Amino acid sequence: MVKGRLHSFETFGAVDGPGIRTVVFLQGCPARCSYCHNPDTWDMHGGNEVETKQIVDRAKRGMSYYGDKGGVTFSGGEPLLQGEFLIQTIGALKKVGINSIIDTSGTFIDEFTEKVIEECEMILLDVKHSNPEKFWEITSKKQDTLLELIDLINKHEKHVWVRQVIVPGINDTEANIDALNEFIKKIKHVDKVELLGYHNLGVEKYEKLGIKYRLKDVEPMDRAKLDELSALVKY
Ligand code: SF4
Repeated sequence: MVKGRLHSFETFGAVDGPGIRTVVFLQGCPARCSYCHNPDTWDMHGGNEVETKQIVDRAKRGMSYYGDKGGVTFSGGEPLLQGEFLIQTIGALKKVGINSIIDTSGTFIDEFTEKVIEECEMILLDVKHSNPEKFWEITSKKQDTLLELIDLINKHEKHVWVRQVIVPGINDTEANIDALNEFIKKIKHVDKVELLGYHNLGVEKYEKLGIKYRLKDVEPMDRAKLDELSALVKY
């Protein structure tokens, strides 16, 4: 049995996929997003070692709340970094009747990724930016990986909720939403598109970790402007 590395759990998650969900934040991320509010998930050697059984036991505690739609969401960090562990754990959860969703940034892909996509219920896809250069500026990773992942998602006919964090001065324009509308045409089954407003609540974590926060002068996203931009989303 492969072991995983866990950052934390969240019970009764209501925003990370349909229904009520147990959110499993896996440790480790290859990206370094300028606005990441969980820099403590980055280090692959951080967090705690975890066995599949511990995740299944924890997920089973929420079963009476899941109903038809709820289940487990694997988030991070970047959960696809732990593909082999995910395949094993998604399989174990299936056996007890719990579905799994993957919340990914599309910044990592390996030989296990396709099987993870095949086995999971649906995908939450964080599209950091539709423009490849801007994607690189935000994440320090190439957008090509995201495009490869979208091919796998389409191949397995998986449904997707697209999300994008909107940051003042970076992507808070109508032109960006037009570009996002165009970009998501690459995905066969889009069930929802959510724009999330940038906030700077993670800044203290950077100070504690001694990491420079690149967006320290950027104000949180204005709610009214976010609503205006959200109204322009088409899918
Ligand atoms: S992909 Fe997510 S966890 Fe990783 S750096 Fe970006 S925002 Fe943070």
